[in-house]
Amino acid sequence: MASTTIPDTSSELLAAVDEGWRVFREAVRHVGRARMDEPTGAGWTFHDLFAHIAAWHDLTARRLRVLRTEGRFGGYNEGVARLIAGGSMMGYALPDDETPITKATNCIIAALADEVRTDMHEWPCIRCGDCAMVCPSRLLPQDLLVAATTSDFAGLHTLGLQDCIECGCCDVICPSQILLTERFRIAKRSVAARTPIPVTSPGQD
Ligand code: SF4
Ligand code: SF4
Repeated sequence: MASTTIPDTSSELLAAVDEGWRVFREAVRHVGRARMDEPTGAGWTFHDLFAHIAAWHDLTARRLRVLRTEGRFGGYNEGVARLIAGGSMMGYALPDDETPITKATNCIIAALADEVRTDMHEWPCIRCGDCAMVCPSRLLPQDLLVAATTSDFAGLHTLGLQDCIECGCCDVICPSQILLTERFRIAKRSVAARTPIPVTSPGQD
């Protein structure tokens, strides 16, 4: 079975690649030429499976070569204002680049200062209703906000907090720059734990 330990150094990475290659070659040798056209449990023949793996390895090697040629290795530079895990709208800001990632992390955005909101000040809700207009779940984020602020669990349930998909649309449209989605995430955790919802959000002054 392949190791799931993340290599710390390039030599550890090379050793892991070599080990994977050794296991793969052994598997190919074990099957042997005579059985290459036999079907496997996956429905493909051994030949097709090996060709598929080889094609992906070839593509990976070519991509790595391009990245090295273009000098696109080496992390990010000082111009990056925020690291975001999980996409521009539904993602989470990472506190630093020491934060571990998991196989569930679909992307990391290294956002420049002019690509993210750096002024985290919030103004009071003016009940404009814009958040409700854009909510794909047809919720009333402005009312959810009030219920979350007062730890009104029954109200949150009635208003459909559980149907919030945390898309971030209400945050983007809100003229008062209220971090609605983050509050709803916190509220969901508090509802699950039956603990009072914190009054402030991470983005508040
Ligand atoms: S984050 Fe939730 S409340 Fe806000 S727009 Fe998306 S689904 Fe609606
Ligand atoms: S968009 Fe912002 S200010 Fe307008 S109703 Fe929603 S939460 Fe309130």
